[in-house]
Amino acid sequence: MKIARHAVRGEKMEISNEMCDALNGQIGEELFSEYLYLSMSAWFESENLPGFANWMRVQAGEEHEHAMRFYKYIVERQGKVSLEAIKKPKGEWKSPLEAFEEAYKHENHITKCISGLMDQAIDSKDHATASMLKWFVDEQVEEEASADEIVKKLEMIRDSKQGLLMLDHQMAARKRG
Ligand code: MG
Repeated sequence: MKIARHAVRGEKMEISNEMCDALNGQIGEELFSEYLYLSMSAWFESENLPGFANWMRVQAGEEHEHAMRFYKYIVERQGKVSLEAIKKPKGEWKSPLEAFEEAYKHENHITKCISGLMDQAIDSKDHATASMLKWFVDEQVEEEASADEIVKKLEMIRDSKQGLLMLDHQMAARKRG
């Protein structure tokens, strides 16, 4: 089928194997992000912080959407989606601050992954993939900023139970975008 499609179109619309492999790898990164944030959500539930748990559950849902953006893009470019095993996420943190510091670090890692994919797309003159990735470049600026904002608030609160409960109340307001 693929050969016939080439012949009809007379041009190569399919994504390169190298780019496709790299995007498949990113599906795994995004699904692991979903898993990590869902694990954090469960931990916040066990700590009786339902607002934080809500925030993390919404975040996990967004990560699923990110994975699906890559999935759909690969299908559109006539590549083959290939899913790998997702590793087990951590399940315990010492404090809400430690959890959010880890979330922030994780988003730094994801930003590096997206930058690497963008470099690869540009180097191979794959303009369509570079254009698709632009959304993720912008999204990562937001992701890092929102995790950092909560880290800073938690640093301010430190050991204040009252402050933590107030922030938990705020975090309960986050809805699926
Ligand atoms: Mg993501």
